[in-house]
Amino acid sequence: MSEIVRRPTREVRVGDVRVGGDAPVVVQSMTNTDTTDVTATVQQVQALAEAGSEIVRVTVNTVEAAAAVPRIRERLDALGCRVPLVGDFHFNGHKLLTQEPACAEALAKYRINPGNIGRGSKRDEQFATLIELACRHGKPVRIGVNWGSLDAALAARMMDENARLPEPLDPEVVMRRAMVASALESAKKAEELGLAGDRIVLSCKMSRVQDLIAVYRDLSAQSDYPLHLGLTEAGMGTKGIVASTAALAVLLQEGIGDTIRVSLTPEPGGDRTQEVRVAQEILQAMGLRAFAPQVTACPGCGRTTSTVFQELAQAIERYLRNQMPLWRSRYPGVETMQVAVMGCVVNGPGESKHANIGISLPGTGEVPVAPVYVDGEKTVTLKGERIAEDFQAIVEDYVQRRYGH
Ligand code: SF4
Repeated sequence: MSEIVRRPTREVRVGDVRVGGDAPVVVQSMTNTDTTDVTATVQQVQALAEAGSEIVRVTVNTVEAAAAVPRIRERLDALGCRVPLVGDFHFNGHKLLTQEPACAEALAKYRINPGNIGRGSKRDEQFATLIELACRHGKPVRIGVNWGSLDAALAARMMDENARLPEPLDPEVVMRRAMVASALESAKKAEELGLAGDRIVLSCKMSRVQDLIAVYRDLSAQSDYPLHLGLTEAGMGTKGIVASTAALAVLLQEGIGDTIRVSLTPEPGGDRTQEVRVAQEILQAMGLRAFAPQVTACPGCGRTTSTVFQELAQAIERYLRNQMPLWRSRYPGVETMQVAVMGCVVNGPGESKHANIGISLPGTGEVPVAPVYVDGEKTVTLKGERIAEDFQAIVEDYVQRRYGH
């Protein structure tokens, strides 16, 4: 399916989900509910999992949040939602996991940030406690370095060393190197403390595309831990989607990245599951995974002056999306199906022939008929008021025949 050669890494198990090794690139997401609100968090985790998030991270910032985690896990299990939960810890993770062993047990992985573990002499002690807890509970850890909270002592040390060089490097380059060093030094320390190498995932999230690409190339060249990719603070709407896609696509094309998250800021009251769909679409567009049938639709132009074409393209997309929960289990392989919905005869027949099923609608001034192509052959010409319904029936019939067994 894809010509991308994935970089070899160790495999880490997060609950039942394999990350790294020869596992497919995993999609993950994070809740934005207050974790102490068990009902809201369960609902959002379930929605994210149903949208396709294979791992979901939750904030664990207080004793109350830590106490809520096992209840969230139980409720999800009762609903049949087995998605692994990851706890996101900053500043007080060592205390919370010690005080709430049921939380430590309910989580499938701990995400810790070396820049936020503690200062001075406390830092090593608190880091060691976290790693000991991960070992005791048999859990993997993601060492998640973040540009916004880079380990200040490490950054200062590397800046000082750089200043003493005869030809000091650009401070931005030093900061990027400090990100990578923070992840690798922490991973080394974790292994020295007894955490197995196949229990460690690394990430170094940056907010600028070129920084992210440079840092992950370095990280990948220097280690074989599975890497979690994500552009942090990507932003809202199209800006966030484009910036995340630009960064992730370059790295994924180089075989770098074993799990991804698209960190979109939702519109107020917006749908959190959008980040999951975007992550899936990136992987599917790159040919790394298939999640849902793809609709190839032309953009339309002066030849499509009516809205019939847009309405049909939209209706087919909606129909395919709505059918997927049922089709996924009933028709394995249907997620690789290609459907073309084209606006006129210029590219319509050609594009339709390349899809599993394609329809070429009549452009302005053309005879009002719509030829349908199935597996490259013209099978029928639709006309009249019910073109959308008739085309849908053809798609349904094709899915049953092609993917039914
Ligand atoms: S296929 Fe036809 S309608 Fe669609 S963009 Fe091309 S020329 Fe325009």
